[in-house]
Amino acid sequence: MNEPDFHPRCWWCGAIADSREHRVKASELRKSFKGSDYLVLANERPSKFHGPKSPLMLFPKTMCKTCNGARSQPFDRAYDQFVTFVRERPDFFRARTSFQMSHVLAGEPHTSANLARYYVKNFACRIDERGFDVPKDLIDFLNGSESMPNATLVLYKDFSIMDQLRKEGTSGHSHWANSMVSPENPSDGELEVFIAEIQDGPIGALIWWNSANRLGITFSARDRVYLRLREELPHLYIHNNS
Ligand SMILES: [Zn+2]
Repeated sequence: MNEPDFHPRCWWCGAIADSREHRVKASELRKSFKGSDYLVLANERPSKFHGPKSPLMLFPKTMCKTCNGARSQPFDRAYDQFVTFVRERPDFFRARTSFQMSHVLAGEPHTSANLARYYVKNFACRIDERGFDVPKDLIDFLNGSESMPNATLVLYKDFSIMDQLRKEGTSGHSHWANSMVSPENPSDGELEVFIAEIQDGPIGALIWWNSANRLGITFSARDRVYLRLREELPHLYIHNNS
């Protein structure tokens, strides 16, 4: 009996998926584990850190090498730049309800959009991993559209974990991610709702996507980015589910 010849496909371009995206960027992992910082990954439960190439730290093969490499490199770079700023100057954000992205991501144009696209790429891997097709408006956004009609993507702040970790004597920097889909299983139908967040230190990105709603707010649309308290934003259960 022959096994079915099944090759997973890259959710972005459809080529054979032969590359595994990091759940957390490897450079971030290395920095996080140099000190005594924590890694908090809800539903991903690493008990011990075995290095950035540990299978626990990678998505399954959801992308091809080109899409995960050269094609998304500007997104990865923008995220590196942003998280470096957050790591070095977390208290810059503490009292602010908004900030100018061009102040934080100085230099290259389109960096704010590329930062948003890093988050969307990571979220898309989470959707693909659960067995659903990645929604077209997310793919269009990665390909250069300015918004995602069925999604809202915002930045938020929550200093509670950082302040707690600082009391324990660490730098306070941690990484957190969580997501949920509805329906839970692709055998129950197409994706209707996807909610996810990724937080580094006190700053996170929250997306909610709904096949039935036109939302279309993306933080990168304007240079002035609003930074809401996480507790004021919807879908708190994915944030508090640690
Ligand atoms: Zn691809």
